[in-house]
Amino acid sequence: MIDAHAHYSAPAASAFSPAAILARLDAAGVRRLVVTSSPPQLAQHLYRHAPGRIIPLLGVYASDLDKGRWVHDAGLPARIAAQLEHGSWAGIGELHLFAGDARQPVFEQLVRLAAARRLVLMLHGDAEVIERAFAIAPEVRVLWAHLGTRPQPGLLAAMLDRYPATLWIDTSVRNERIAPDGTLLPEWRALFERYPDRFVAAVDTFSVNRWQHYAAVVAQIRNWIEPLPQPLENGLLHDNAARLFDAFLASPARP
Ligand SMILES: [Zn+2]
Repeated sequence: MIDAHAHYSAPAASAFSPAAILARLDAAGVRRLVVTSSPPQLAQHLYRHAPGRIIPLLGVYASDLDKGRWVHDAGLPARIAAQLEHGSWAGIGELHLFAGDARQPVFEQLVRLAAARRLVLMLHGDAEVIERAFAIAPEVRVLWAHLGTRPQPGLLAAMLDRYPATLWIDTSVRNERIAPDGTLLPEWRALFERYPDRFVAAVDTFSVNRWQHYAAVVAQIRNWIEPLPQPLENGLLHDNAARLFDAFLASPARP
């Protein structure tokens, strides 16, 4: 399995060394982790510890407090461009952004930066933000977190149809919504069957507590995925994320 959405921020790094994180991945049967952090160096630290297993995203927040104000920080894009020069990065994010701020120039500059360097953008936002990213750079690859902010199969299907080659969606923190008693609801199963190569499974370890319960959350995910037909299971657990990050996995020493 590739867990396609993880955080290793300062509180988690105080609680768990890189070796302890790897032990948690092993215990849960997770081969690779797509991980971001605030501050951003922590994800790189994890990557250097286990380069074959970590897919690092450059977090743009110095601390979690920046979540609500980053898009108004005019100096941010230049700092991010400079940080990308140090270390190996598969993408940028997670960026939290909502429709009212979708037209901010700082967002536009980060989208252009990601596109120019063939980096994946992990976005936590509504459909308007995703549309804006593709209006700025149609070729950029986007990982849309948490089945979007309004997780409705019809809305997601429309977005996947509109962006057939560049949009991937992660299922993190939505297990109870899509599989409330452990079995995938029919409308979600139909959506995953219709788009077998576009969704990726993920935990989203946003807190120390979430890391403590990592294996249990992975088990919850496997519980609704494993009854699905084998190709769909493989896609959700591994193959779709491997395709999303194929450039990094083929040549991690970037730029
Ligand atoms: Zn997250």
